[in-house]
Amino acid sequence: MTVKERAKKEPQGLVGRAFAFAREAHKGQERRSGEPYFNHPLAAAETLNDWHLDDATVAAALLHDTVEDTGVPLEKIEKEFGAEVAFLVDGVTKLGRIKYRGAEDKAENLRKMVLAISEDLRVVLIKLSDRLHNMQTLDALPAAKQKRVALETDEIYAPLAYRLGMHDLSGELQDLAFPYLHPEEYRWLLGAAKEQYEARREYLEKMKPRVKKLLEERGIAPLAIEVRAKRYASLYKKLLKRDMDLGRIYDLVAMRIIVRDVAECYAALGVIHEEWPPVPRRIKDYIAMPKPNGYRSLHTTVIGPDAMTIEFQIRTKAMHDEDEHGIAAHWLYEERRKGVRAPSGPRLAKELEWVQQLKRWQERFTDGGGSPEEFLESMKVDFFKDRIFAVTPHGDVVDLPVGSTPIDFAYHVHSAIGDSASGAKVNGAITPLDRRLKSGDVVEIITQKGKKPSEDWLRFVATSLARDHIRSVLRGKGAFSRVAKMPTHAEITIGVDPHLGLIENISGTIARQGIGIASFHTDAGGDGHFRFYRIEVSVAARSKLDKLSLRLRKIKGVKSVKYRLA
Ligand code: MN
Repeated sequence: MTVKERAKKEPQGLVGRAFAFAREAHKGQERRSGEPYFNHPLAAAETLNDWHLDDATVAAALLHDTVEDTGVPLEKIEKEFGAEVAFLVDGVTKLGRIKYRGAEDKAENLRKMVLAISEDLRVVLIKLSDRLHNMQTLDALPAAKQKRVALETDEIYAPLAYRLGMHDLSGELQDLAFPYLHPEEYRWLLGAAKEQYEARREYLEKMKPRVKKLLEERGIAPLAIEVRAKRYASLYKKLLKRDMDLGRIYDLVAMRIIVRDVAECYAALGVIHEEWPPVPRRIKDYIAMPKPNGYRSLHTTVIGPDAMTIEFQIRTKAMHDEDEHGIAAHWLYEERRKGVRAPSGPRLAKELEWVQQLKRWQERFTDGGGSPEEFLESMKVDFFKDRIFAVTPHGDVVDLPVGSTPIDFAYHVHSAIGDSASGAKVNGAITPLDRRLKSGDVVEIITQKGKKPSEDWLRFVATSLARDHIRSVLRGKGAFSRVAKMPTHAEITIGVDPHLGLIENISGTIARQGIGIASFHTDAGGDGHFRFYRIEVSVAARSKLDKLSLRLRKIKGVKSVKYRLA
């Protein structure tokens, strides 16, 4: 349902009331293009609605320009829509005041932006949807302004979207900025590539029903088949690396197949390869080996009818959503899990490390007299690069460097969680602890009481925080195990009703507790059966023996367990 439909259906809901309020507030206002101003906040709200954000965010998007452009006081927004919506609107209003290009007198606004985004990631998402629509309607603005907005988009917002894992949005923002930033190159590209684009697109559109039929005949019902043209901005970047030779670009227009699960991905690939011969070395399995940014799909280029090459991209719906929506996919999954819209999230970005970093920079530039240009420059470089954003099951965002693993994640949530981590689920599936996380991953750490960090973890952790914690615990344990070099000896006496496999069962249980067996005696009972096992063991601590006794008692055939320290 669109925002418009939702407002109509439920005029008294939060979204419905914000819809009516914003339309009224912008009444009589026009955008430069001459269309009613309200179209703009509505477009931003529709984007967020598509991303399945919560009602407060959609409402705030509808209201995002009312304070700045219609003079509605923020207090009124708060009174009508509550503190949360007012907070989001205020954040976006502040972000709207920053202007990239870093003139001295704008520094204060930059700082406001920093503070605003440090509080809630949803502010950033509203800003991105706002910026998307502004870029889509940029041609109505005067040339000088176009250039400034395009530059800001290309250098600040598109990289920000990328870092949040919103690759589709990031690419679209760059594409929209491209003609304004590189008009000559754009014209050249249009001239050189447009015909090819059109021809390729037409060719693939014709192929679509055939591919669909082919898959269905083999029992694969694709959820969607899309014809995707490569974006101009990324085509241009690729051409620069390929001597501007369009003939060497295989994925000018690609066919994207979305299926239900990973098995169907490989099955679909097989079906396509049976029908059309693949081009050697053009098969890429980004499912088994995801790209560093987390991208997953199967790619292949085949020789299609009329000896034309076709690039296929095959992926599951989840891979697709992740690639398109990144961190916003979190809300998508949240909704799916609960069957309802996600509740308003906590202040997601509160703990984000990069936000803390920004604050430190801000202080440095405020106190140290650094110029706003330097500030923006440093922000551009460090702010957006090499970070990923993973999410706890509660929706808290954890900011980590690229290459981080569930163990890094665990230590960033809490050192005790790191110390007692025994396993991890990523997006609901059990995952090895050394798996590299990617933006938007929902990570759940499975803990086990009394569990200690493993030395092995030092091999793969990416953050110094995790490494330092693990080392310090291991050092503590090291001291402990020096004591344990003089282990406690004990004799365990187990009364049994013997059966086949009982001895293996008992010795296995002892071994799994990490306890060494020094000797194993069996004492025969009067009727020829073995009635008692006497086992000499060495353990590091007496508490281990209590635990072991409990475990042993649970074994079928064990009647009694006693131990005495030697
Ligand atoms: Mn706006």
